[in-house]
Amino acid sequence: MIATDTKIWLSSPHMGGREQYYVNEAFKSNWIAPLGPNVEGFEKDLGQYLGDGNHVAALSSGTAAIHLALLLCGVKQGDHVLCQSFTFAASANPITYLGAHPVFIDSEDTTWNLCPDLLENAIKDFINKGKKPKAIVAVHLYGMPYQVEKIHSLAKEYDIPVVEDSAEALGSTFKGEKCGSFGTFSILSFNGNKIITTSGGGALVCRNDQEKQKAVFLATQARDEAPHYQHSQVGYNYRMSNVTAGIGRGQMEVLEDRVIARRANYEFYRDRLSGYRSIEFLKEPADTFSNRWLTCVLLNNNETRERIRLSLQENNIESRPLWKPMHLQPVFQDETAYLSGVSETLFNRGLCLPSGSDLTENDLLRIVGIIEKELNNDK
Ligand SMILES: *Cc1c(COP(=O)(O)O)cnc(C)c1O
Repeated sequence: MIATDTKIWLSSPHMGGREQYYVNEAFKSNWIAPLGPNVEGFEKDLGQYLGDGNHVAALSSGTAAIHLALLLCGVKQGDHVLCQSFTFAASANPITYLGAHPVFIDSEDTTWNLCPDLLENAIKDFINKGKKPKAIVAVHLYGMPYQVEKIHSLAKEYDIPVVEDSAEALGSTFKGEKCGSFGTFSILSFNGNKIITTSGGGALVCRNDQEKQKAVFLATQARDEAPHYQHSQVGYNYRMSNVTAGIGRGQMEVLEDRVIARRANYEFYRDRLSGYRSIEFLKEPADTFSNRWLTCVLLNNNETRERIRLSLQENNIESRPLWKPMHLQPVFQDETAYLSGVSETLFNRGLCLPSGSDLTENDLLRIVGIIEKELNNDK
């Protein structure tokens, strides 16, 4: 097989080297069980990274973190939760775990995230119906911060808690403040394809230690203090293990490098491709810094998008359409949605390009070469 045929993935795990050290420490001390020094160390690293006033509970997944965040917001059976429609299903699924209904809100086209105007319409409608929404799930999709000031001032005005889904945005900032520090609760994910990974894992970021302790209590089967096993509440098994937290500690040492590498991918693609009329890049609005977790482009139409995607696939290169909005998912077809058409257009015309922090210049040249060929055919 010739070298150019090696598979290029959308977003591969990228170890820094020190992960093995922390994992070995766990094995040496036989601290394989949940909790232990790596969990504490990883929580401390994340808390320090996010800044003062952030209290981190390391969990088994980002999805578990959203579930606990909604629970701590007081979401119950029959409640309504406003949720960004343009996202991965994990932002919305936990709403249904609690027997509540997601109400999907479309995106605006400067950040591709939650549209403040539609959000306010939905809030007013539901308040008028006597069903004030219990929470807002806002997502920094692909690492691009949502309109932080507008969304949070609406949330404040109507007194509704925000679950900030920062699963894709560790390393992004708004006005110099880190994503993952804005919500009533914030969540992170360390799934295999994210900017840093623990192979699988997540975190709930709380604004005080008391809330963190409540989250940890729920994440460890809600055990009351007693020598025997005593429970007065339903709990969950959502804690991160000490072995995977070791991977996380190693990954925290290279987070800044990973952000630099992913942003360099974006710049490479933009410099080479933005001259073509049929391709558009998502720009950073003022005050906004994206980790560019994935470089996403919009093509002039669905046909061009598919032609490029299939041509990349034939050349052993993985790319993907943008997330299919939740309001178009069969599983959520009966839920209410406030729509503008923005996310549907993004889904039809958008493509995620290979964006791993371990891509080589040769990889990038190979990818761009194929795209350029398809765009030239377009003229
Ligand atoms: C990955 C992801 C999640 C879920 O995280 P897991 O750790 O995979 O459970 C939630 N929201 C978004 C936007 C994600 O991309």
